[in-house]
Amino acid sequence: MRVLVVEDETKLAVLLRQGLRREGMGVDVAATGEDAVMRATATDYDVILLDVMLPGQDGFEVCRQLRAKQVWSPTLMLTALDDVDDRVRGLDSGADDYLAKPFSFQELMARIRALVRRGAHPRPTLLSVGELRLDPATRRVAYRDRELSLTAREFAMLELFMRRPGEVLTRFELLEHVWDDSYENRSNVIDVYVGYLRDKLERDAIETVRGVGYRLRV
Ligand code: CA
Repeated sequence: MRVLVVEDETKLAVLLRQGLRREGMGVDVAATGEDAVMRATATDYDVILLDVMLPGQDGFEVCRQLRAKQVWSPTLMLTALDDVDDRVRGLDSGADDYLAKPFSFQELMARIRALVRRGAHPRPTLLSVGELRLDPATRRVAYRDRELSLTAREFAMLELFMRRPGEVLTRFELLEHVWDDSYENRSNVIDVYVGYLRDKLERDAIETVRGVGYRLRV
């Protein structure tokens, strides 16, 4: 297992490197955001430990850049700030987990194991299909650079389509993921909402696949 530690405090960086190496891991250290981006794009790290407060580019910016460059290494943010906003910002910039300083090495190792289990498959923070863009964090949607105003349900449905581009989604799948058990009147709600989305995108943006369901086509 190969780990990148991004930490500008030399003492902590050395401690982490020693501890992780004792666990049998290969450990590289980057002290700046720029160095972190360079290393993480050149080497396929199994885990990145990313400090938030760095000189120059901070951890949020590093994480955004890596995800934009299609680097999907599982990333754990280390933050000294016990601040909800920072944790939210970290996760929304593409981090997978966070740990507030000071932390126990035991917990750090457990989180690293959990991250490695989940793997490094692509998980973009911004969804993009054709000329459609959707940001789950800011809840904004744009089609051909035109911002769309969607209700919560329309947004949820479009997000589901965009997470499975080119796939035919059955009415059952759409119901299962966008509605919950409290919804009683299930007869034609999917068709109604597909209609709403077509009105806001364009008529043939969602294709009807007869007898099966619907497919996003943008
Ligand atoms: Ca720091």
